[in-house]
Amino acid sequence: MQTVTILGASGSIGCNTLDVIARHPDRYRVFAITGCRRVERLMQQAKACAARYVVIADETLYEDAKHFAKQYGVEAEILMGEDALSFVASDSAVDIVMAAIVGAAGLLPTLAAVKSGKRVLLANKEALVMSGELFIQAANQYGATLLPIDSEHNAIFQSLPQTFQYGDLQGSGISKILLTGSGGPFLTRAIDSFNTITPDEACAHPNWDMGRKISVDSATMMNKGLEFIEAHWLFGVAASDIQVVLHPQSTIHSMVQYVDGSVIAQLGNPDMRTPIAHGLAYPERIVSGVSALDFSQLAAFTFAQACPERYPNLALAISACESGQAATTQLNAANEVAVDAFLSGAIRFTDIASVNAESLQQLEPTSVSSIQQVLDIDTAARAAAQQHVQRLTA
Ligand code: NDP
Ligand code: MG
Repeated sequence: MQTVTILGASGSIGCNTLDVIARHPDRYRVFAITGCRRVERLMQQAKACAARYVVIADETLYEDAKHFAKQYGVEAEILMGEDALSFVASDSAVDIVMAAIVGAAGLLPTLAAVKSGKRVLLANKEALVMSGELFIQAANQYGATLLPIDSEHNAIFQSLPQTFQYGDLQGSGISKILLTGSGGPFLTRAIDSFNTITPDEACAHPNWDMGRKISVDSATMMNKGLEFIEAHWLFGVAASDIQVVLHPQSTIHSMVQYVDGSVIAQLGNPDMRTPIAHGLAYPERIVSGVSALDFSQLAAFTFAQACPERYPNLALAISACESGQAATTQLNAANEVAVDAFLSGAIRFTDIASVNAESLQQLEPTSVSSIQQVLDIDTAARAAAQQHVQRLTA
């Protein structure tokens, strides 16, 4: 029996994780679930999975949480705030932590899980993009097991040989990591109409059902950019070893190309319960609830290159990856501010790239050697991006 904490349980990945866990009551027990604002949903989840703790990140909602706890007959202990998130991520009773908080808010609780040597199922790509080398070092130092949940990285992980050593592509005869992306909802939309894109249009992904922030990132392809940086750190590979390939059907979730000409891919229906089940049970396999691919029903597989005019954010992320840790932290922070501003109707879709580009232009080269430095760069980059947003809305 494995004990699991789900950080970000009320979100899209969190709900899918609880769905997989509910299929295996003989294997997994829920220790804690956490959320921020969707407290009613959290209390319904707490009742259904019999969690021991529920953590509400937004402390102003504590009374609401207590009200819903009573309404749904929840017996779990209700905790609040950031320290409580880190507590449920690191308690000695916990074996597995699903890191599925969105954005920089997930960094400290995810690191708390890493520093307690847990099996960490990493969905929260922003945490790794921000802290990169420090995150990987901490995983090694504290003996944490990192398993990628992002479908592409999970696919790459499944397509690498079991003998793969971090960073050593040559030793495994690998020539390229092929990172696939669907191109999002605006793959064929006229570029000169991008400035009228609404938040709801941007969140309507053709293949995946996800939270709003990652949905906008998918539409701008910043998501692929963050994933590029994520792959760089997770597998220890250089930017020149990673190639982005557009594959609109999202059936192939990424591939590894070998020097002998072989390409190993992982395929499946686009449903996050597959990588979640893989991460939970690895190296075993368990039922996830995802239906099998029906090859008689599959339409054509197509591939293309990402056009830079359509996806300027992708190029920004790749250049940040080449520049280093400060640049990726800064870009991630600016992007979170820009996406928030777009979702609240303050700026246009096309302004997201301009906020991000300006942030990278203002970069002062610094080497990053502590999490405090990461947090300082993040705070400064957010303030600068806010100013840029204000100039755009003035
Ligand atoms: P959602 O927006 O659906 O869920 C985010 C979760 O984080 C919710 O539980 C939310 O709480 C919580 N949260 C939000 N803000 C805070 C905060 N300040 N402090 C603590 N908790 C907070 O996102 P997704 O599930 O789509 O994505 C989660 C992560 O997984 C992201 O990093 C994303 O990039 C990654 N990912 C997601 C995929 C997907 O298919 N959805 C695929 C691959 C990666 P509440 O809702 O209660 O406010
Ligand atoms: Mg992904």
